[in-house]
Amino acid sequence: MLSYQQARELVIARVQSICETPATESEPLSQSLGRVLSEEIRSDRDYPPFDRSVRDGYAVRSADTHPGAHLRCIGELKAGDAPSVSVAPGTCVQIMTGAAMPDGADAVIMIEHTSREGHDVQVERSLTPGQHVVRKGSEQSSGKTILQTGTRIGFTEIAAAAQVGAANPRVFRKPRVAILTTGDEIVDFAATPGPFQIRNSNSASIAAQTSLLGAEPVLLGNAKDTSQDLRDKISAGLEHDALIISGGVSMGKYDLVEPVFRELGAEIIFDAVAIRPGKPVVFAICKGKPVFGLPGNPVSTMVTFDLFVRPALEILSGAEPSPLPFFEAILSSPLSEKPGLTHFLPAQLAWPDGAPRVSPIPWQGSGDVVAMTRANCLLVVPQDRERIEDGERVQVLPRGLF
Ligand code: AMP
Ligand code: MG
Repeated sequence: MLSYQQARELVIARVQSICETPATESEPLSQSLGRVLSEEIRSDRDYPPFDRSVRDGYAVRSADTHPGAHLRCIGELKAGDAPSVSVAPGTCVQIMTGAAMPDGADAVIMIEHTSREGHDVQVERSLTPGQHVVRKGSEQSSGKTILQTGTRIGFTEIAAAAQVGAANPRVFRKPRVAILTTGDEIVDFAATPGPFQIRNSNSASIAAQTSLLGAEPVLLGNAKDTSQDLRDKISAGLEHDALIISGGVSMGKYDLVEPVFRELGAEIIFDAVAIRPGKPVVFAICKGKPVFGLPGNPVSTMVTFDLFVRPALEILSGAEPSPLPFFEAILSSPLSEKPGLTHFLPAQLAWPDGAPRVSPIPWQGSGDVVAMTRANCLLVVPQDRERIEDGERVQVLPRGLF
């Protein structure tokens, strides 16, 4: 059986091979959060655009400064002012953070390191040339690329784009991702379920995970566990850029998703991965589109989405697939899990004494979505480990980050 790493690599390779460069559009910067740049953004001028003071204090000639030196203050500059005076030997200009440096001065002494009487400023420190000044063009020179094509726009990228006046960046069109749940027992989450019916939480969580990646969820509703209904709804789903199905991929008599994929001519790339939760996950290419059959238990659905669907949607969005953000923590209580599968357990990560410590959260297995809400990470138990002692180092994946 494939490891999750092998399965991810297959997803990435296959989606990259079928995916064409997405169409592009202009988006107002204020609405571009989470989108992927389809062209680079360049600096429109030098940054900073002038030699900038980064402290409140006095613009001075550094050669004039030593403890006890007296300078005559000949003016004041605040942010936005054009410097009109120049600093001659023995003089200084009061300057605020963000203001342009006056001619003659090469450093700023912090106000805290001075005392003043009238125009007389006594300095308490020696400065080196350039101290507390950021030189024109030292952050970016005019015309230089500041954000590459394929960059996902987060709030930091929004700030950088705003700084250079990129008010309507060009971004890749969002992939439209069809979402289909399956199961005779499933009812809409707004409905009152009968005694043996289950509300549809997967369509909501898959749509949310899809939106968080900057893709557009298209809800196809729920299919009955019949070949006919599955065939009709899966065929409709193949009109979109990708199709994600939940449920119907296990060994039960009514788990018909994979047979229907085959009927529709799909190439099944894998139909099992050595993980828990999520072992029966299916990835296929059908009519040129990536399709996923995620196991229906809600925690399996969300974990397999993050492991396998996420890189596919990143590629379809025009971005590079991001690696899984593992980090190490110390296990707080011993663990025993079935070997042969990599386990992803809901867990709590904390730093009680400065070092990261992780403990699993009690849960009833992959249907226990409420336990998952109490977790801030997944603890990864490797395939070859039956038991891990407390105090051992383990890998964790932060929840909501991957
Ligand atoms: P399945 O993968 O179809 O065998 O379903 C596994 C378990 O997940 C069953 O207990 C289902 O009732 C439950 N389940 C399947 N689909 C959903 C869904 N859309 N929302 C919530 N639970 C579901
Ligand atoms: Mg089912």
